[in-house]
Amino acid sequence: MVIDLSIVNFVYLVAVVLFILGLKGLSHPRTAVRGNLMGASGMLIAIVVTLFDQNIVRFEFIVMGLLIGTVLGAAFAFRIAMTSMPQLVALFNGLGGAASMLVAGAALEQELTGTNSLGLQFTMASGISALIGSITLLGSLVAFGKLQGLITESPVLMPGRHILNITLGLISIGLIVWLVLDSSNSLPFWILVGVAALFGITLVIPIGGADMPVVISLLNSYSGLAASATGFVLQNNMLIIAGALVGAAGIILTRIMCKAMNRSLINVLLAGVGAVATSPTQDNEVYEGKVKSTSADEVAMLLEDARRVVIVPGYGMAVAQAQFAVRDFTSLLETKGVEVEFAIHPVAGRMPGHMNVLLAEVNIPYEKLREMDDINPTFEQTDVVLVIGANDVVNPVARDNDDPGNPIAGMPILDVDHARTVVVIKRSLSPGFAGIPNPLFAAENCLMLFADAKQAAFDLAAAIKEL
Ligand code: NDP
Repeated sequence: MVIDLSIVNFVYLVAVVLFILGLKGLSHPRTAVRGNLMGASGMLIAIVVTLFDQNIVRFEFIVMGLLIGTVLGAAFAFRIAMTSMPQLVALFNGLGGAASMLVAGAALEQELTGTNSLGLQFTMASGISALIGSITLLGSLVAFGKLQGLITESPVLMPGRHILNITLGLISIGLIVWLVLDSSNSLPFWILVGVAALFGITLVIPIGGADMPVVISLLNSYSGLAASATGFVLQNNMLIIAGALVGAAGIILTRIMCKAMNRSLINVLLAGVGAVATSPTQDNEVYEGKVKSTSADEVAMLLEDARRVVIVPGYGMAVAQAQFAVRDFTSLLETKGVEVEFAIHPVAGRMPGHMNVLLAEVNIPYEKLREMDDINPTFEQTDVVLVIGANDVVNPVARDNDDPGNPIAGMPILDVDHARTVVVIKRSLSPGFAGIPNPLFAAENCLMLFADAKQAAFDLAAAIKEL
């Protein structure tokens, strides 16, 4: 059945409105679930109407694709821990880029079997889709490898890499021009796929593990742009708009991540920063004889005597799945008249909004979640800061801008060391994602509660109840 084009376009318009409202909803945790549903409904009606619109693929293939995709998607979703989300997102971005590139390639091959000559829009868009799609695929695979520990997290700085990248960029432009001028064969398209794959590797491999959050959001944006280019190949308005929305949302997220880490995008892409420390400071230089450990009972007394407590959650809270136990002991503190707030660093955890998601899951009211710029000036008036499984986001070493081997140099941090007392809950003195020691743990006003975050939260709740 083929539906009238005006109906298709009307349904696409409805879908686009749903996407935009969905994105708006996603901008606040309170409306995020509704926003997600709106976006998903928009996508569903867009897919359904597209299936009726263009009878270009047999339904058997679509059902087969759906089944394989569902099985693989479900297997990934069940197996991957919440804390490995960045890797998964990187992989999915890459697959999105690959799908766009392959669809453009298939459309090109199909057109070449016909007699009509190919238009400028078609060939140009196919070339752009091949370029961005292939960069996204290989760039994302490298990002996945780095985050999964399959390849080194350190920047791999090949000599002459800028010249190599400029050369690959120029060759790619040349191949697109070839494709546009000689639209009788698909050879330039597939060579471009290969060159862009190499380009994807050389673009991402020099970027250090600490800057991967920025890279992933950028690749997310690329995957949208590749889809949009493929929309021009297929002359499908829906794909053009949806791809452009993903591209724009990805760029906005990239800007937010850059700001959170105090990096410029050019710096991330070209400077090989985000290093794993080149000459790491030895742990014992920082910690020896200075670390004071404490117990749950002692911390419970400190907390009960405090007027204002700020909790700083980090990656370790996510690993331990301690958010339920944390909610329980904070409620206990509040019943005893202690004011409790949560300080959220934008790159705490392993994905944007990671801490917000965990705290929303256990119904911590949004008003209690304070952003970094907002809460930093208040630490001096805070009696106790409880750092739960966070490390890099509270590491004062980030303030040292001059050390080139410091992977978090210049990253804004939560100024917890300005509080009267800081208690850090973690299992050991092991470093965080950036792989460097944290002088906070040896500070005069810091106590270490060495424990798994969930167990510590249970112990604190028990100790507070007993007081
Ligand atoms: P970190 O990775 O700096 O530190 C986490 C700490 O949690 C570790 O030092 C670890 O210490 C502790 N920990 C691990 N498991 C447990 C547990 N079961 N119980 C208690 N503690 C535990 O985390 P932060 O949140 O401070 O910083 C995030 C880092 O991740 C930043 O460097 C950021 O750039 C990076 N990143 C962020 C992404 C994002 O989008 N948010 C994406 C990718 C990277 P120990 O082993 O001693 O317990």
